[in-house]
Amino acid sequence: MANRSIEQVVETVPTSDGAGVRLSRSLGTPKLPVLDPFLMLDEFRSDDPGDYIAGFPAHPHRGFETVTVMLAGAMQHKDSTGNKGDLRPGGAQWMTAGRGIIHSEMPQQVDGLMWGFQLWVNLPARDKMTAPRYQDIDPSEIPVVSRPNANVRVMAGVVDDVKGPIEGVATEPLLLDVTLQPGATIELAVPSTHNAFLYPFEGSGHFGSHPEPIERSHLVVTKRDGDSVAVRASEAGVRFLVVAGRPIGEPVARYGPFVMNTRGELEQAFADYRAGTFAQA
Ligand code: FE
Repeated sequence: MANRSIEQVVETVPTSDGAGVRLSRSLGTPKLPVLDPFLMLDEFRSDDPGDYIAGFPAHPHRGFETVTVMLAGAMQHKDSTGNKGDLRPGGAQWMTAGRGIIHSEMPQQVDGLMWGFQLWVNLPARDKMTAPRYQDIDPSEIPVVSRPNANVRVMAGVVDDVKGPIEGVATEPLLLDVTLQPGATIELAVPSTHNAFLYPFEGSGHFGSHPEPIERSHLVVTKRDGDSVAVRASEAGVRFLVVAGRPIGEPVARYGPFVMNTRGELEQAFADYRAGTFAQA
């Protein structure tokens, strides 16, 4: 395997979204607007209910997919057609919004730590108006691959012939949650066709041949120059996400919760939403 080099390290930017949920955004900012097919990555992490309690009341999405990974706390997802799901610590949801959903994502706790991620993944033109689809993944359904002083939770894609439960996604994603003990090293295969980034969220580590250790809450963009990523944990150990997907290579017209190919399609999305014809069962 050839290890990828590091193209860019992006610091997170504090922001807020929904009804005032405080977030750290690393993808979908002026520094890194897009990493085809990925459009946004937010981390929410707070034990102050004031930072999260208002949640994300009813809002629409069209033309892409939202992926939620919960580490701590609980969130309830509900859409306008009656679909409902509970996100528990260690669980994940891959939601294909397709032609449209209107949903809410609300914390199911009034105190304690709320910690997790939301990733936005684009859909190719042929799938933008597909029927909405939910993959709600219980923590018990996520296989764990053990390597020396390391373990890998495989949510999507394949590690050492172990396949993650999320399937049927256009961009053939890899989504891993990797924990390395202090000083441990790991090499993970990443399809050479895919764009890939890593996101440490606990501890710090050495990513690829980047000269400095990289601490939590930085997004590490790899070059498409190899078929693996290599990481070595610092003394404190490191836990990080690995996210990879096949680039779509189409024009992106995005505004707020709508991601289409053209401005006309965006205008249509707003018109459908205003007319109330959006997201009907
Ligand atoms: Fe949403």
